[in-house]
Amino acid sequence: MLENKAVNNIISNTTEVFKEVSEEVLEEEKRLPIMEFFNQEEMDICLKEWKHTLGLDDWHIRVCVTYASHLDSLEYTGQNEWSFLHKCSAISLIDKEEYGSRMLKYCAEEILIHELLHLIIGAESSWEDMNPYERAHEHQKIENLARSFLCAKYGISLDFFWEVKGNE
Ligand SMILES: [Zn+2]
Repeated sequence: MLENKAVNNIISNTTEVFKEVSEEVLEEEKRLPIMEFFNQEEMDICLKEWKHTLGLDDWHIRVCVTYASHLDSLEYTGQNEWSFLHKCSAISLIDKEEYGSRMLKYCAEEILIHELLHLIIGAESSWEDMNPYERAHEHQKIENLARSFLCAKYGISLDFFWEVKGNE
């Protein structure tokens, strides 16, 4: 049987461990998705992390921030041009300044994940072969997944992405 002093030591050590863990968890909870990239290095680090998470390490992928007018449609927030055969992809993200006022917040990390998911979901088929309904459905599925991944990573809810809350 342990002496009282020893028991007390164990209890106080255990408390210390819990204290450290809970502070770490709190620190973790404070983290939020990357809303805007401020330089290429930040973007490349984020790209590398998500490439790995999504199992796309063997793809050659470039990412840049661009003007809205450089995207194929003014409604786009990002664009991905890829070669499934060569596993190459060039991703463009709309600049925050050009995003304008939308119901969903500008979230650079979310746009990047969305574009990366295109390389997994339906990347082998041609967009030209799809009708507008099929294309919209594909984008919507990918959009849902991208936001859900961020919810899982940061412990946030889908509400986080709405610019306007409350009376909708
Ligand atoms: Zn899309």
